[in-house]
Amino acid sequence: MIPFNVPPFTGKETEYIKQAIDSHKICGDGAFTKKCSAWLGERTGSRVLMTTSCTHALEMSALLCGIKEGDEVILPSFTFASTADAFAIRGATLVFTDIRPDTMNIDEKLIEQAITDRTKVIVPVHYGGVGCEMDEINALAEHYGISVVEDAAQCSQSFYKGKPLGTLSRFGCISFHETKNFSMGEGGALFVNCESDIETAEVIREKGTDRSRFFRGQVDKYTWQDAGSSYLPSELCCAYLWAQLELADEITAARVKCAQTYRSELADLAERGLVEFQHIPDHCTCNGHLFYIKAKDLGERTALIAFLKEKGVLAVFHYVPLHSAPAGKKYGRFSGRDIYTTKESDRLVRLPMYYGLSESDQAYVIECVREFYRNR
Ligand SMILES: *Cc1c(COP(=O)(O)O)cnc(C)c1O
Repeated sequence: MIPFNVPPFTGKETEYIKQAIDSHKICGDGAFTKKCSAWLGERTGSRVLMTTSCTHALEMSALLCGIKEGDEVILPSFTFASTADAFAIRGATLVFTDIRPDTMNIDEKLIEQAITDRTKVIVPVHYGGVGCEMDEINALAEHYGISVVEDAAQCSQSFYKGKPLGTLSRFGCISFHETKNFSMGEGGALFVNCESDIETAEVIREKGTDRSRFFRGQVDKYTWQDAGSSYLPSELCCAYLWAQLELADEITAARVKCAQTYRSELADLAERGLVEFQHIPDHCTCNGHLFYIKAKDLGERTALIAFLKEKGVLAVFHYVPLHSAPAGKKYGRFSGRDIYTTKESDRLVRLPMYYGLSESDQAYVIECVREFYRNR
């Protein structure tokens, strides 16, 4: 069986976890947490707070944007539940918009018509590490006085016009779940891109206390400042992640190469109109987070996944559009018409993609896909 995903492992993880244990510091904000956030900060120019998940980074963003009952948040329906959860639990109404069929990202041209006087935040999701049209989105947000929070869960080492995804708006939310390019099992990071949010973000993350300032020696005792939560990951998790950040460029290069191989080896199927790939605009640099093909329709996709499974290849689809899910109906509404969200998500199949996928296994996956399409 060729699995769909294998969590990244470089070989140093066990040693670093042992170092954390031996240092008798396994709670949050120890040496490995600092190494990870400093590395991410250097790479992005953002202030980086490590978190327990991307979902929690999104939750922190919702708190920092002051989301309350009755506020509206604009997001694509084609995304993971977390994008919506973070705002739904604060009482926001979710306003789903349609996507562009070429990138599967929110259609920037449909955002303005979804804006009302209750709109507080726009949440672009950079699907597969391909950037949304951030210049247009930021210009709209500025015009209407709305915040932008990037769901950049899949975007470590991806760029839009040369700038790292997650750094292009007020907050960027990154995931280090085991399915992402770099992993700590469960974990994430919040990129705080406005100076004025940094202090409050630190307080919210540390149970509402000013403990971060205390550790820096800026206050002589720490106290409860505001309502917050605990969004600090354990040192053990950051020790695991550090082993991959050290090899980040190698991991990214391997994934990008894997995606390019899929693209070139299946190019003739695309030329014959049998499948479609994700479009990567010229101004975007993608980190090879995922590789999908789009089949003709739902029926063909179901047959393709079943055929691959029979051959020992695990391919998967996602997402069930949020506006058609039970919670999406409860917490949200669709703005405008669903022209592409359902139709395009029904066609999408993700092929195995992970650090360490061997050339021979990938060649086998490609051969199986080609075999499926031989008689079509
Ligand atoms: C993975 C993912 C999340 C959730 O990340 P966690 O770290 O598991 O909370 C949110 N949004 C998108 C688009 C994702 O791919």
